[in-house]
Amino acid sequence: SSAETTAPAAPEKKETTKVFSNSGSKEKATFVSLARNQDLWELVGSIRQIEDRFNSKFHYDWVFLNDGEFSEEFKKVTSEVCSGTTKYGQIPKEQWSFPSWIDTEKAAQVREEMKKNKIIYGDSISYRHMCRYESGFFFRHPLLEEYEYYWRVEPGIKIYCDVDYDVFKFMKDNKKSYGWTISLPEYKETIPTLWKTTKDFLKENSQYVADKNLMDWISDDDGGSYNGCHFWSNFEVGSLEFWRSDAYMKYFEFLDKAGGFFYERWGDAPIHSIAVALFMPREEVHFFDDIGYFHNPFHNCPIDEAVREKNKCMCAPKDDFSFHSYSCTSKFYDIMGLQKPTGWEKYVQ
Ligand code: GDP
Ligand code: MN
Repeated sequence: SSAETTAPAAPEKKETTKVFSNSGSKEKATFVSLARNQDLWELVGSIRQIEDRFNSKFHYDWVFLNDGEFSEEFKKVTSEVCSGTTKYGQIPKEQWSFPSWIDTEKAAQVREEMKKNKIIYGDSISYRHMCRYESGFFFRHPLLEEYEYYWRVEPGIKIYCDVDYDVFKFMKDNKKSYGWTISLPEYKETIPTLWKTTKDFLKENSQYVADKNLMDWISDDDGGSYNGCHFWSNFEVGSLEFWRSDAYMKYFEFLDKAGGFFYERWGDAPIHSIAVALFMPREEVHFFDDIGYFHNPFHNCPIDEAVREKNKCMCAPKDDFSFHSYSCTSKFYDIMGLQKPTGWEKYVQ
């Protein structure tokens, strides 16, 4: 018998016709970077690469946010290197401090304990404020109000390939609301009660769960437990409207009240990812397989020869993490019924 008749039922592979258009007016979109003055030069490296590979062709704006005040040097250097309009915002104090309902003694004990256990950023207060801000507040900053889409950029990242199409137009034309490049499982020690808290939220708010969601991507037992898979949030191209929706705003409020930003060390990446996986129709989630990207220590390096050549990628395909066994990206392909690039098995490791 032929392979076709004996093979187990494979998920349907979709022929996707995507629109890559550069015509017409710009989208209401901006880059957004949260940074301190001391991050300036690492961030300039990131901006330079985004400009060279993408934004010098499109000139989108760039919003910079900081809990402190940006220095004149920071503003001068970044405005010189960005081809779009740059804007600088300060974060209101109450969005970057302990909320009134948090027991700061208890939070301090947790940091002590996490320090002993060598949990990454476990003893940091500022990192927790950062995670909470990126989870619940950046999208409501007045400087972001006028925009529909954002692209988050961090210091020290690399962009490996040309991006010749308008990424924001791509999002709009193809009805995408969340785009990502790297996925992996979270350290469980940082989120012991995040899933339980999420399930508590869902008990009262099940109406927010999308019909065709990505629950199977974040849970291997039908929602019983969280497998830790998340989109790495240092790169995000997304719809601001999604974060401003009732579903997400209520979810964030619920998590914030539960206190896990301070009593544990909840990251914005698993929180964003759980929300995207549950509240967003999965067809609106997009893996940018063609955007070569690095944030220490992981690379998304396109392994497809045609993509590499066309986009003049400068990364070594052997470094690709996307099809590595530790990544969650392969699972995303399987669940979405997407065709993996030729030869992906060689990169599993
Ligand atoms: P990591 O990628 O998880 O190691 O964390 P990063 O140190 O890269 O921080 C994540 C993002 O938040 C980056 O854009 C940083 O520039 C920014 N960030 C981190 N801590 C602070 C802080 O205390 N103040 C400000 N303004 N930005 C911060
Ligand atoms: Mn970072």
